[in-house]
Amino acid sequence: MSGGSLAARRIWIDPQRSIQNAEVVWDGSGRIVALRRTRGRVRDVVLVPGLVDAHAHLQLEPLPATAPRDFLPWVGAVMKQRAATAPAGMRAAARAHVKALQRDGVTAFGEIDSTGLSPAVLRAAGAAGRCYQELTGFHLTGAAARQLVQNRRVVGDGRLAAGLSPHAPYSVSGDLMRAAARRCRHLSIHCAEVPEEQQFLRTGEGPFAELLAALGRLPAGFRAPGVGAVRHLQRLGVLRPGTHLVHCQELERGDVARIRDAGAAIVVCPGTIEWFGREVPPVARWLAAGVPVAIGTDSRASNARWSLRGELALLGRMCPALSDRQLLTIATSHGAQALGRPGLGRLRRGGRADLLALPAHDGDDDALLGAFVRGELAPALVLSAGRRIR
Ligand SMILES: [Zn+2]
Repeated sequence: MSGGSLAARRIWIDPQRSIQNAEVVWDGSGRIVALRRTRGRVRDVVLVPGLVDAHAHLQLEPLPATAPRDFLPWVGAVMKQRAATAPAGMRAAARAHVKALQRDGVTAFGEIDSTGLSPAVLRAAGAAGRCYQELTGFHLTGAAARQLVQNRRVVGDGRLAAGLSPHAPYSVSGDLMRAAARRCRHLSIHCAEVPEEQQFLRTGEGPFAELLAALGRLPAGFRAPGVGAVRHLQRLGVLRPGTHLVHCQELERGDVARIRDAGAAIVVCPGTIEWFGREVPPVARWLAAGVPVAIGTDSRASNARWSLRGELALLGRMCPALSDRQLLTIATSHGAQALGRPGLGRLRRGGRADLLALPAHDGDDDALLGAFVRGELAPALVLSAGRRIR
C-alpha cells in the first residue's frame, strides 16, 4: 500500500489544538510522517482524530424485542443468547459490528472478548486499540483463579494491545481480581453499575447473593467486603493506572477522588443508560474533578443505536453542561487514555493516520465541530491507518 496526504482548512491534532491550512502526510504503513502548515491549496474540510469506542462487546447480537430491561433478568437473557450462539455466529457478529462502527468514524476499540475470537477480527479490519479477555468466576479461589488467568491468551502488539477484563466485583472473586492484576497492567472492569451490586458488596445480601447461590457460585462461608465497589477494588489493589471502570452509576461519597488519585479512568455508555432508564451520571463533575471520562457503545444487547457518534450526541443531550470540546475529548484522547494507548485519539507525527474529514460548507470551524459532536454532521471521509473506510 502506498501512503497519501490530505490538505485541509483546519486540522484538529487533539481536542485542544488545531492548525489552520495544514496538511497531513502518511506512509505506506499508515503512519503519519508529516503534519504541518501548508501554503498550497487545501480542501474545504476540517480534520479530526478518529474516534475511540472505549467499551464494546462486539460479539453480542441484539436481544429479542421482548427482552427484559431489568438488569438481572437481562443478564440472564444475555447469558442464554451467548450459550446458544456458535463461535462462527459470534465471529460474524463481531465482523459486522466492527465494520459498521468504523464506517461511522471509530478507528480504535476497547473490546471485551469473551471467547478469544475478537483479536483476529479487529486485526483483519485494521483497527487499533486494546482487546480485553473477559474473566468471570465468583467461586474461584487460589490456584483455580490463577489457572483461569493463565489460560487466557493475553498477547498484543503495537496496533492492537492486550488486556484483561475481570467482569465485575459481583462476578469475579477477590483472588481472581488479584490474579488478573498480577498478569496484566491493563484492566477493564464493570463497576458500581446497579444499586443491587453495591448492596451485595456491602452486606452480602440481595438479588446478586440469591443469583450466585442459585448458580452454585457463592462460596460457603462467604463474607461480604463490607464496602462499595470502588473501595473494594481499591483494597484488592486493582484501582491503579491502566485500569478503567465501566458505568460507575452508583458511586459512593469519595469514590471520584479515589478513582482520580489512583490514576484510573471511567467509561460511560449513554445507550445503556437510556436502555435501562437509569439516572444520568454527573460526567461534567467527574471531568472537573480530573477523572478522564471516555465513552463506549457497550453492546447491541443494551443499545439499539450502534453508532459512537450517536452515543456522543446522546451524551451531549443527557449532560447539557458538556462543551463541544469536552465531548470531542471524551470520544478521542480520553478514550485513548482509558485504553492505555496515549498515542491514539490524536494526530501526531509517528502516530496512526486515523482521521475523519468533516465537510466544511459554512465558515465557522467551531460551529462545525459542534455540529459533529452533536450528531448533526457525518464525516465525509474516514481513514484508518491511512486506509479509506468511508
Ligand atoms: Zn459492558
